[in-house]
Amino acid sequence: MAVVVRQSAEYNDAIHNVFTDYGIPFFMDQSKDVLHHPLSEFIRSALETVLYGWKHEAVFRCVKTEMLFPEDGRMDRERYDRLENYVLAAGIEGRQWKSPKGWKPLLRGGVEDEPAEADARRVAEFEDLLKARKELVSPLARLERAIAKAGTIRGMCEALFDFLDRSGAASRLERRSESDLAEGRPGSARIHRQLWDGVMNLLDQLVEMAGEEEVPADLFAGMVETGLESLKLSAVPPSLDQVVVGTMDRTRTGDVRFSFVLGASDGVLPMRMQEDGVLTERERESLGDLGLEMAPGMRRKLLDERYLIYRAFLSPSEGLWVSWPLADEEGKGLYPSEYVRHLRKLYPWLESRPAAAFPEKDEGERELLEYMELPQRTLSYLMPRIRSWMEGGELSGLWRDAYNWFAVRPQWQSRLQAMLDSLSYANQEAALTRRTADRLYGSRLTASVTRMERFVSCPFQHFAIHGLGLKERKLYKLQAPDMGQLFHAALSRVATELGEGWGRAGSEEIKAISGRVVEELSPRLQSEILLSSGRYRYIAGKLKDIVSRAAVVLGEHARRAEFQPVGLEVDFGPDGTLPPLDIELPDGSSIRIIGRIDRVDAARSDKGLLLRVLDYKSSATQLRLEEVSHGLSLQMLTYLDVLLTHAEKWLGSAAQPAGVLYFHVHNPVLSVPSGLEPDEAAAMLLKRFKMRGLLLDDADTVRMMDGAMEGRSDLLPAGFKKDGTFLSDSALASGRQWELLRSSVRRTIATIGQSVKDGEIAIRPYRLGSKTPCQFCSYRPVCQFDPLNEANEYLKLGTPGKEEVWRSLEELAEAQAEPACAADMNSEPLHMDPAPGDMQSAPRDMGPASRDRVSGDMSPLKGTADRDENGDGRRS
Ligand code: SF4
Repeated sequence: MAVVVRQSAEYNDAIHNVFTDYGIPFFMDQSKDVLHHPLSEFIRSALETVLYGWKHEAVFRCVKTEMLFPEDGRMDRERYDRLENYVLAAGIEGRQWKSPKGWKPLLRGGVEDEPAEADARRVAEFEDLLKARKELVSPLARLERAIAKAGTIRGMCEALFDFLDRSGAASRLERRSESDLAEGRPGSARIHRQLWDGVMNLLDQLVEMAGEEEVPADLFAGMVETGLESLKLSAVPPSLDQVVVGTMDRTRTGDVRFSFVLGASDGVLPMRMQEDGVLTERERESLGDLGLEMAPGMRRKLLDERYLIYRAFLSPSEGLWVSWPLADEEGKGLYPSEYVRHLRKLYPWLESRPAAAFPEKDEGERELLEYMELPQRTLSYLMPRIRSWMEGGELSGLWRDAYNWFAVRPQWQSRLQAMLDSLSYANQEAALTRRTADRLYGSRLTASVTRMERFVSCPFQHFAIHGLGLKERKLYKLQAPDMGQLFHAALSRVATELGEGWGRAGSEEIKAISGRVVEELSPRLQSEILLSSGRYRYIAGKLKDIVSRAAVVLGEHARRAEFQPVGLEVDFGPDGTLPPLDIELPDGSSIRIIGRIDRVDAARSDKGLLLRVLDYKSSATQLRLEEVSHGLSLQMLTYLDVLLTHAEKWLGSAAQPAGVLYFHVHNPVLSVPSGLEPDEAAAMLLKRFKMRGLLLDDADTVRMMDGAMEGRSDLLPAGFKKDGTFLSDSALASGRQWELLRSSVRRTIATIGQSVKDGEIAIRPYRLGSKTPCQFCSYRPVCQFDPLNEANEYLKLGTPGKEEVWRSLEELAEAQAEPACAADMNSEPLHMDPAPGDMQSAPRDMGPASRDRVSGDMSPLKGTADRDENGDGRRS
């Protein structure tokens, strides 16, 4: 029996699936392209490595064929993975592969940390990497030298053969072949051997044809590549007792009793030909008449095409079955082939009937039975019926019987269950058990504020990072967080060096200090990336300009303000300058918040000690109240809370909040239609550095931050009207409102901490306006979040106005009605137990997603009466 098609690619998958489902043995007669076989890939990537500058992509392609691993198993895959990680993180490229000189252990820690000596374990790991490098590089370097010395094609073929021989390619392929055979893959076992012979033939032919030719090495590599591309290996049918599946132009079906010709549509049978040569058909004929040997022309090809069809139709001795598709995969209608018309004309009594891949809804029992010949196939047809029934459709008696047939047979139950489960598949994760969560995160939670914000953004992202410990591969490139680190460290050093004299220093002095500081810190960034090339040195210069400009502007801030830095890079945590912030969770345990505050400024007034938090940002950042209330922006207010909580012990007296401010570290370019006087330019520039955030709504306090303020401030998000009151768009909060924010942030952290401990890992990213965390999230391949899947929805967060946020915070505080709420905010940490109804301002509904799951109950269906017990036509 044979199945014949004109073009195989379109039918391969369908034939494979259907024949496998029906358990029919078949043989696909097609030649295999071997370009991606490990041996071809090994040869191509090795030549690419040594001829095109040791690009790491080519080296890794070569390494991944595993042909270079020592045959005694010393070089395992994991060791190679570590080598690859190192190479990508350290930016090893080109000549660096060939010498261990540029290979240094990767720097750990941040820019601001002093470089530490590598410990013994890291030294041993690094030495192992160096050994792995040598094992991989030696044979490739030998091939490089041999090819460079060869000159002729013969010499290069010998060099390549020597490379294959020394790497034991033949014996490796032999082993692969044996293992494929042992695992029941005779076809693939044969290919390994055939390919080795094919490659040897290719080298022989190159030597025979042009062995003594002197050609450049890249031309030789091109010849080898073309040779490998044209190698096609044929599979031999492992037995005769099977259906042969092939194309008309390749397969000789021989004596078959029945033949099935698929895809007999117009344009395919016969194949539509296109003239693509330079010569017309007439010119070809004229040249042929003159005795020139020509490749087959259009006419010849059309005749051949007819012959192929003739042979396919006439080869079976007992029956021919011809089918054609009614539409292509885009739904565009197709016409049957002209041969179908011929057949109908010749044999008018022939019957033709449509055959659907899946049973239609309104098909009668007789037709349906045709789809139920084999259990596996019936099961695949049954599932869409059950899905439609779950959605309220009908399920006919025949399909019910089919379901019951599977349900009572133990051998089918696991497959039926798997399929039922697939029907109810919702891309969601149930919460971890408390025990698992404790083992992952520790029974006492210790976390940074960023981690809390991450949980609010998406619990699954938090789980992927902090539970599973998934990290993106480190790459040797300068990224925004690296620059942020450099800015923080540099500005902190400038502040330390200038101290209280920052406001008095001239801009040239500030620029000189900033430049020197950036130069000192640059080598610590990403394994000296800023010194690695001219391009990066240029970027280092730009970073120096940015830090200098920001430092000069901060000098102006210092000149105008009575607030002075009292802490730079202030760590809070077990070993920090300040203790951690401990917040009690609803279940009685607690969460410990740790972190580092960029800068703390203080000033004394008749209200006592005033503190403000300053955060350097490499992008423009705002403090949005709605984000605070949703739990997406907790950092600044938590930092302020830490300072107020520990001020007495740290600074000797209790403190009041004066503000939280973001300072954008950048180097803006002024663009104006006409020139500017230096003073005007300086004033304009200053405005571009205006800080964003929230201030205490007290005119004296605000003036202490900008003594030169008249009307709208150049430095702060506030301004005065003529009557001395604040402009309405000033970003201000009263003393009461600071208290509300502080307690709201604590409540939010307590809720998040409790949800983390309860094992919440839902795939539920937020959506605020058009903002979602998925946009820049690297964990999508893990979570598979798909907004089109109804189980995957964004958590839509509202955008209440400022007044609404304040009102709701006030209501929450009133509702709390616990004496602890009124606790002195300057004393020990508050311990709040949020009541269940208290969470409107907290981040989200943290409870595990409750979803209707198909129960997978496989008890037999009894009939309509049973199904309608809910009265809605569905099964309970
Ligand atoms: S892609 Fe979106 S849903 Fe997936 S982990 Fe990231 S933030 Fe969460």
